[in-house]
Amino acid sequence: MGTYDVAVIGTGGVGSATVYALAKAGAKVIGLDRFDPPHDRGSSHGDTRVVRKAYFEHPDYVPLLQQAYRGWQHLEEAAGKQLYFPTGVLQIGPSEGEIISGIRNSAQEHGLAIESYTFDELGQVFPGIKPPENTVGILERDAGYLLVSECIAAYLRLAKELGAELRTNTPALDWHAREGEYLLETAGGVIQAKQLIICGGPWALQLLDDLEVPMRILQKHLYWYDNTAPEYTADGSFPVFLMETPGGLYYGFPQIDAQGVKVSRHDGGMPIEHAGWHAQMEDAADRADVESFLSACLPELSHTVNRQAACLYTMTPDQHFLLGPHPRRQGLHYVAGLSGHGFKFASALGEILCDLTVKGKTSAPIGFLRATRFY
Ligand SMILES: Cc1cc2nc3c(=O)[nH]c(=O)nc-3n(C[C@H](O)[C@H](O)[C@H](O)COP(=O)(O)OP(=O)(O)OC[C@H]3O[C@@H](n4cnc5c(N)ncnc54)[C@H](O)[C@@H]3O)c2cc1C
Repeated sequence: MGTYDVAVIGTGGVGSATVYALAKAGAKVIGLDRFDPPHDRGSSHGDTRVVRKAYFEHPDYVPLLQQAYRGWQHLEEAAGKQLYFPTGVLQIGPSEGEIISGIRNSAQEHGLAIESYTFDELGQVFPGIKPPENTVGILERDAGYLLVSECIAAYLRLAKELGAELRTNTPALDWHAREGEYLLETAGGVIQAKQLIICGGPWALQLLDDLEVPMRILQKHLYWYDNTAPEYTADGSFPVFLMETPGGLYYGFPQIDAQGVKVSRHDGGMPIEHAGWHAQMEDAADRADVESFLSACLPELSHTVNRQAACLYTMTPDQHFLLGPHPRRQGLHYVAGLSGHGFKFASALGEILCDLTVKGKTSAPIGFLRATRFY
């Protein structure tokens, strides 16, 4: 026991990668989680996550994604199993819309390979997809999906093998700084660490309230639709897709197992006050909305739901992440407000948080994500 070099609160999507990076760097690290990750109570469950590089959200994310891709490859090698599946990601929307113009900007600025399709070509090349009127498509081939729970489990297993101490079912009840170190209160006693990293996902609202950035939690629903159509299988070359339609922004995955084709809506979502109140409840209006998208754009897919899940987005006001050293507290670093698009970055975020604590700096271009952009 004694004093740890670093304590990490939350060992979910980003925290598991962070604990691994710290253990690999030789730090004496402890990771705490209120549950037993991978679990289905936060933001990192539901089997798969989209990973892509030509980032419509902002070109400044691309260098972080290039680092993340290297990180996922390293994890696959260290874990000895495939975790990234490059099915390609097809994004469809109006030519001047947010997605298509955003992808073009990022690809041009960073020299990324993308393939463009006209409306007519989309129907021919991707049978099974009926694109909305007046849209075009862009396919990024070096993109696809990650197995989210398996990535977390691999990071935690490898971190433990490297000497990290992991405490599951151990919520940090409170934390405070005292004489150059951090004290974490748990039901089992106080943990002392020279530095603290907070990776609390949707619990960031409580853990990081003194960051003074208003975040809000949205509950999102995932549906796995039964499928018999060969058009929608990964074997049949069906890619991960995102579609900007007049009704909203929807995304989905090829069928990879007997559960079927997973589809969800990215925009919208039901605000909830507190991550602790999150339950795997159903939302009939959300499901009807997703199924009207299916009728219009994936007409061969059944509307029989084999499985559904609810998961949490933690939104910042501008939907960009919060990352870095705390603006006023020496030795405290955090990631928060991943706004529903953070998992693909987890391998890079873990390395960056590790560098900030172990080396006191990072070469990664994260300035655009600092919390002080809101002050
Ligand atoms: C439905 C859905 C679809 C998504 N799709 C994508 C996608 O396709 N691509 C993509 O890149 N991203 C996607 N995201 C976003 C991405 O999954 C998240 O941004 C990311 O997984 C969040 O990781 P995290 O570590 O911040 O949170 P979590 O994985 O939730 O981890 C936070 C951890 O902190 C622990 N914790 C909290 N408070 C305490 C405490 N006091 N003490 C101890 N432990 C504590 C929790 O138990 C939890 O394990 C999606 C999210 C959802 C919900």
